[in-house]
Amino acid sequence: YYNQDTYIYLDGEFVKANTAGTDLFGQSLHYGYGAFEGLRAYSTYHGSRIFKAEEHFNRLQESCRAINLPYQWNNNHLIEKTYELLSVNNLRSAYIRPLVFSGSNMHLTSAVESKIMIAAWEWGPYLGHNLLRVCTSRIERPNPKSFRIDAKVSGQYINSILASSDAIRNGFDEALLLDQEGFVAQASSENLFIEKDFKIYTPPLGNIFPGITRQAVIEICKDFQIEVIEKRLSIQDIHEADSAFLCGTAAEIIGIKEVDNIRYKEDWEHTIGASIQRKYKKLVLEEENYEVII
Ligand code: PMP
Repeated sequence: YYNQDTYIYLDGEFVKANTAGTDLFGQSLHYGYGAFEGLRAYSTYHGSRIFKAEEHFNRLQESCRAINLPYQWNNNHLIEKTYELLSVNNLRSAYIRPLVFSGSNMHLTSAVESKIMIAAWEWGPYLGHNLLRVCTSRIERPNPKSFRIDAKVSGQYINSILASSDAIRNGFDEALLLDQEGFVAQASSENLFIEKDFKIYTPPLGNIFPGITRQAVIEICKDFQIEVIEKRLSIQDIHEADSAFLCGTAAEIIGIKEVDNIRYKEDWEHTIGASIQRKYKKLVLEEENYEVII
C-alpha cells in the first residue's frame, strides 16, 4: 500500500508513512474504537477527481458522532488536503482512506481526543473484474440494536473479515450476510442489488450500511426510469433473481455469476446491472454526457 516515499496526511501535516507512528496504548488499537472512510479518486479529462468527496467526509463526521469520537475538522479543508495528498504522492487515480482514531486512553469511555490520518494508494477494483461467485454466510450482520451499523466504525469490520474469509476458505469470492430475521442484508463490504422481471430490488436501510454507491445506483436507475424497490429480500429471492450485482466504492459495480452454486441464466452483459455499471464508470470519470445505451 505504500513505498518508502509515500506521504500520509496526519493531523495537519504531510509526513512520510514509514516514519509516522501512533501510541500503542489507545482505544482504537485495543477496542476498534475508530471511524474511517473509503473514497476513490479517478483520473478524468479534467484532472484527478474524487467521487462524492463531500458525501464521504460528511459520513465520516456522522460516524464519529455516532460513537462520540471528537471530530474537530472542517470537511472542505480535509477535501483540499486530500487533493494535496494525491498530488504530493503523484497519484491521479487512487483509493483514499481517512481514519479517525482516539488518542492515548485505555478506558471504555468516550474518547477525549482524536486524530485523523489520510492515506492514498493505487488500488484496482476490490473484488477484481470477473463476475463473482458468492455464498450466503453463516455469519450474520451485527445487531443494529447493539451496534451503530449505519456508521463506518473500525471494530465492526471484524464481522466483515469473518464472513469474507469464511467465504474465501470455501472457494467463493465474497459472502452475503443475513440480518437477524434471516433476510439477506448485504455483502461483507458492498451493498446488494438484484434484477427480477426488469425491476431492480435492494434491501432497505435499517439492517444495511448506507452505501454512497448504493445511492448512486438508485439515482442512475431514476435516470434510466427503471423502478428500484427497496424491500427485504429472502435467500430464495436472491436465488430466483434474473441477475444480481454488488456495489461499493472499493469494489465499484461488479456482477454476480452464481449464488450458493446456483448460476444466473441471464448473460451479465445484457442485464440492467451491466448498463448501470457502464453508467457508473462514466459518472466517476465525469463523462456522463456520453449516452449509455440500455
Ligand atoms: N457495506 C459496508 C459494510 C461497507 O464498509 C461499505 C464500504 N464503505 C459499503 C457497504 C459500500 O459503501 P460505499 O458505497 O459508501 O462505499
